[in-house]
Amino acid sequence: MRSEGVTREERVYMASHRCHDVDFVMKRWRGVARKAGMRVDDLDGANQSTILALSNSGEGSDGGLYLSAGIHGDEPAAVQGLLQWAEENIPFLQNHPVIIFPCLNPWGLVNNMRGDEQGRDLNRCFDQPEIEVIAWVRHIIEGCTFKIAACLHEDFDAKGVYVYELARRGENMGEALLKKLERTIPRHRGRVDGRDSRNGVMRRTRGLKQIVEEIGGMPEAGHLFLHHARTALTFETPSEYSLYRRVQCHVRFLNGLADIARRAAE
Ligand SMILES: [Zn+2]
Repeated sequence: MRSEGVTREERVYMASHRCHDVDFVMKRWRGVARKAGMRVDDLDGANQSTILALSNSGEGSDGGLYLSAGIHGDEPAAVQGLLQWAEENIPFLQNHPVIIFPCLNPWGLVNNMRGDEQGRDLNRCFDQPEIEVIAWVRHIIEGCTFKIAACLHEDFDAKGVYVYELARRGENMGEALLKKLERTIPRHRGRVDGRDSRNGVMRRTRGLKQIVEEIGGMPEAGHLFLHHARTALTFETPSEYSLYRRVQCHVRFLNGLADIARRAAE
């Protein structure tokens, strides 16, 4: 932590957030959808709260953003950051193609658990369409291509922010995105899961099959990079920092993505 201490705004936030209250989160998302004129799809799981998808473009839409959070339930800043960003960016959502999965593991969020109610790590299951939520996500994005897919996460072991960047050769944005938020939380230095990072960016243009074998299953970003997205980013904030700052970092990361989308649309 930095030494400046806690601001008033931060103190108010920490005293009033309801970051594991999934019904409250989903209610606010329905408000976002109403204001932005977005379509809402939902999946009613047997043992869990409704899972939502918000979108504003038809099937086969080209070049938009894919944003998701909360596939790991013990990573609340990702869910809160995506929600806060959306509430602050209704005009962007009205004018740019985007699909949002606000919280893919609501049971996990309520129970502060990484896995789902059956203990599965859903972020290693994107090659298992027999799992209901995986089949549902894959169905919703069928035929879509995205300029950027971003999956928002947190890491209990990290000392700073970092990003996994799956990208085509010659295309990169991870470095520039981290630059916009490293004053809130510094970049992670050194290795992540035994792999080298460069200034907090872990970049791959190929070799995904080997990664999938090493980590024991297909992650969301891997599926997106293989089938739907030119670039697939997994952004991580370190869990030991203040929730307030972690949320700010996710908001800033998303602002950076929105800037890239705006520039591409010009
Ligand atoms: Zn995660």
